Amino acid sequence: MIVQGKDIAQSVLERADVCIVGSGAAGAILAWEMAEMGRSVVLLEKGGYHPRNDFNQREEDMIPMLYKNSGLQFTLPTGFAVAQGSCVGGSTVVNDAVCFRTPDAVLGWWTDQYKVDGVDPGTMKRYFEKVEPRISVGVVQPFELNRNNLILKQGSEKLGWSGAPNSRNCKNCRQCGLCHLGCSYGTKQSMLETYIPDTQSKHGDLVKIYADTTATSVTRSGSRATGVIATVAGTGDRTFSLSVKAKLVFVSAGTVASSELLLRSGLNINGLVGKGVAIHPSPGVVGDFAETVNGHEGIPMAYHCDEFSVVKTGKRGYMIESIFLAPYQFSLSLPGFDYDVKQLMSRYNHYALLGSLLHDENVGTVRLGGPLGAVLEYGLTSADAKLMIEGMKNSARVLLAAGATQVITSHRKKTVIYSEDDLDLIESRGVGPTEINVASAHPQGGNRMGGKPEGAVVDSYSKVYGFENLFVCDASVFPTSLGVNPQLTVMALATRAAEHVGENWAKYAGGS
Ligand SMILES: Cc1cc2nc3c(=O)[nH]c(=O)nc-3n(C[C@H](O)[C@H](O)[C@H](O)COP(=O)(O)OP(=O)(O)OC[C@H]3O[C@@H](n4cnc5c(N)ncnc54)[C@H](O)[C@@H]3O)c2cc1C
Repeated sequence: MIVQGKDIAQSVLERADVCIVGSGAAGAILAWEMAEMGRSVVLLEKGGYHPRNDFNQREEDMIPMLYKNSGLQFTLPTGFAVAQGSCVGGSTVVNDAVCFRTPDAVLGWWTDQYKVDGVDPGTMKRYFEKVEPRISVGVVQPFELNRNNLILKQGSEKLGWSGAPNSRNCKNCRQCGLCHLGCSYGTKQSMLETYIPDTQSKHGDLVKIYADTTATSVTRSGSRATGVIATVAGTGDRTFSLSVKAKLVFVSAGTVASSELLLRSGLNINGLVGKGVAIHPSPGVVGDFAETVNGHEGIPMAYHCDEFSVVKTGKRGYMIESIFLAPYQFSLSLPGFDYDVKQLMSRYNHYALLGSLLHDENVGTVRLGGPLGAVLEYGLTSADAKLMIEGMKNSARVLLAAGATQVITSHRKKTVIYSEDDLDLIESRGVGPTEINVASAHPQGGNRMGGKPEGAVVDSYSKVYGFENLFVCDASVFPTSLGVNPQLTVMALATRAAEHVGENWAKYAGGS
């Protein structure tokens, strides 16, 4: 059953085996897996419940409806935009459906440096193989690549750099190019189309989802979590309190919000909650082509160049990805207020857009404060700044190799590259906080997983150190950033945590 704020007229008390906060990539899977084991679940979701018929593909309606803080979340003091979904289904509803398994090298670091148990590639494969068919992961076929994607393919091939079509979780994509605005055809196999409805139809008696409901604290008695207190946004300005008593609690509110909830609940027992956040900052580089590109038509984000990424090199670098955006979001990749964005946007149909996804160091911190309740402090290390500049230069090289007449970077001061000779401009402008617009859609970390309590917030199976039955399970537990798009890793780790909890139910939850 999905209960919406408009259905509530008084304070509510719920009891369940498990309370889960957040219904995104992790929370939705945990709810399904727990119900499969016969456990009753109350799932709390801050955002609204919007089935696909609510999606009208208009940015001005969809961004406020589906994104955290209407899409306006920025790092301090750098001002990088960090997008996260906030609705039933979480960020999976607005994401680009790109699917990568966790790179083996990254799993190696987690095992060797952070002593995480059971995340070797062989073990993780089992969880990927469980999730992938459920969300219909398949590789985009070469004939399906649109012009924007072909530009990345052709440009990188000319330079001798390796790449491949992406795997995506989209079944019979209708190729509208508007994944970021929610898939109105229901072909993107987000949580909203898969685990959530499956849970409702098979386990409707066991799982109750409250939408429009913000968890405000996790309650505890000594080292045991006892439940969650939440606020339900009812009709108009009315709010109601919801109290859930549970035997076991999963916090799966996503990076930033999960740390915020732990901090707000006074559960930062080792002082590490909120530390070690990465965001995969991804500056856009735009290529202007004489012919029309129409990057908004066809399958978006369908190709990647991995020449400089951890997937190929085994070390931190960057992945060049062909991304495309609807006009408002696209305009944010263009030079800022000191230039005529409208004039630049008149070439929209001729633009190709590449993003270089930086495999950044985990140096960000979530702390309480600010108008949103939590602040994400984040800046580039000097090594990351160097890599970001290199990634932008190589993205520009790809576009020039594919025939772009000019390449425009996302520096606030208009920066145009016409040939290899101009590439040093990127370096001289730099990537300082006042120089460049950078977007991120992959915040990770803040509640680091580790095999030992020193340096970690949760253990190898997502249980918070110092607590018997409190778990954090979402992108916030990654020990390091991934260097590839993260949704499959979140889903696999959630499947693994659920299996572990199921096998050890009596130990964690008490009773049988
Ligand atoms: C625009 C965009 C494009 C992306 N594209 C890709 C892609 O192509 N491939 C890929 O692999 N990844 C992509 N991602 C990232 C991927 O979707 C996320 O990494 C993944 O969904 C994170 O899962 P999660 O469970 O940690 O959090 P989420 O999926 O974000 O879910 C967290 C949920 O918790 C809710 N919540 C927060 N606070 C509270 C609270 N206090 N009480 C109750 N509920 C709360 C939120 O509203 C949200 O619905 C993209 C993300 C975005 C935003």
